Amino acid sequence: MNVVNASGWKPSMGEGGTSGDAVTASGDRGLMLEEPLIFELAGEPTTGVDFEHCELEPIAALDKHLRKAPLALPGLSEGETVRHYTRLSRQNYAIDLGPFPLGSCTMKHNPRLNEKVARLPGFADLHPLQPGDTIRGALEVINELAFWLIDLTGMSGVAMSPKAGAHGELCGVLCIRAALEAKGDAREVLLVPESAHGTNPATAAFAGYRVENIPATAEGRVDLDALKARLGPDVAGVMITNPNTCGLFERDMKAISDAVHAAGGYVYCDGANFNAIVGKVRPGDLGVDAMHINLHKTFSTPHGGGGPGSGPVVLSEALCPYGPLPFTAKTADGIVHLVEEDNAAEFDHKQAFGRMVAFHGQMGMFTRALAYILSHGADGLRQVAEDAVLNANYILRSCEDLLDAPFGQSGPCMHEALFSDASLAEHFSTLDIAKGLIDEGFHPMTVYFPLVVRGAMLVEPTETESKKGLDRFIASLRHVAQRARDGDEALHDAPHFAPRRRLDETQAARKPVLTWKPAAED
Ligand SMILES: *Cc1c(COP(=O)(O)O)cnc(C)c1O
Repeated sequence: MNVVNASGWKPSMGEGGTSGDAVTASGDRGLMLEEPLIFELAGEPTTGVDFEHCELEPIAALDKHLRKAPLALPGLSEGETVRHYTRLSRQNYAIDLGPFPLGSCTMKHNPRLNEKVARLPGFADLHPLQPGDTIRGALEVINELAFWLIDLTGMSGVAMSPKAGAHGELCGVLCIRAALEAKGDAREVLLVPESAHGTNPATAAFAGYRVENIPATAEGRVDLDALKARLGPDVAGVMITNPNTCGLFERDMKAISDAVHAAGGYVYCDGANFNAIVGKVRPGDLGVDAMHINLHKTFSTPHGGGGPGSGPVVLSEALCPYGPLPFTAKTADGIVHLVEEDNAAEFDHKQAFGRMVAFHGQMGMFTRALAYILSHGADGLRQVAEDAVLNANYILRSCEDLLDAPFGQSGPCMHEALFSDASLAEHFSTLDIAKGLIDEGFHPMTVYFPLVVRGAMLVEPTETESKKGLDRFIASLRHVAQRARDGDEALHDAPHFAPRRRLDETQAARKPVLTWKPAAED
């Protein structure tokens, strides 16, 4: 193998390097440092702090629970400790370090203002069991955010409590089930387009529905005729992502809703991609009955590393009476009210099913999302959508001569650009492109999703990336794509410059090693 970077320097291969590579003693490469666990670093059981010898007698009541030997805590000086954690932090790619072009994830800049607001003691120190009259301000924040979500989507009410997108889907589909059952018309089937996010069919099945796929047209949108042909008295509704996971706006959405309603069903919209249309289109005007909003995508609350998420579900007038409590509804006077068990009757709320969660939801995400909304205003949010779409189209049109864009002819994309592996040399794959980007210093895009496209690469730049930043990313993506077209064998072994080489993806996902055991206990 012959790997040379732009400056002509040939790297040595640390741990995980393929056989035959030179191995450095430390595993370090340049200023990328291998870092042992803190237990492995610690030598003498010293500490950075000297405690005075304790003259007190051990408490007799502890008896046999008294510690016999020192606790095996690593003994490190302050300097060693700071370096350890700083080095670890440098091995973690983060949104504050570079772009995160993960399609369908909407990895946005997290404004520091949001963080400051969320840390105000009145919000950060709330306890869910605090007496109601001590949390009026927090409830006001929830109501204010609910007002904005209702207003931006053109819907009638919102259940704020679901914990993330998939949980919101479950909430929305349970509302559809409750509304149908209230009419004595329980149905069995939910229709889901074949390009849907995996959570959609999973939600439908979890809620007790049989899932049937609707095909896509050649241009990557829901096949309206096929959908209409399948509608009937057994169909509870559809779950449609708009903009869809091919990065396209479903132009037939209103026609889809009208047909589903005429057949007695309801329309669920997966709103994870709301970032592309916020302030431009109101899903309520398109006939949507229920839609989750990922605050951790569209409204910039931090995500990654497992959460936390927040997935409020907006509901149409028809589904509002069936939302889970606590529920936020807009009355005819335009005011948003919080509906709970004690005032449900006043709002003709059916309490059809229990709560989705014990309390009100993700307060920390509510404060951040409201700070984001208020600091942008309605015009600013529309600008967010326009810039996100512009950025994605810039990437699409700057790379489609090298990377196959399967729906490049279907008109402008929304906030993400979709490519396939069709233009790569034989034996080169989407995975090679993703790993090659790591060597270029970029987090890879979403790969192998959506499933309707072979070797899919879904690139979402978000609106805050500058033109300069996009140009750097495009140059790198084009460079890696060119290598994959030319059959550059070294690309198969990328990444070469990361702390870890190419992992066994299956083993890494299924059997991650998350604990450390001292060698003696192995
Ligand atoms: C992210 C996403 C979901 C799921 O949302 P979570 O908050 O991760 O549960 C559903 N559908 C689409 C299209 C998404 O992008």
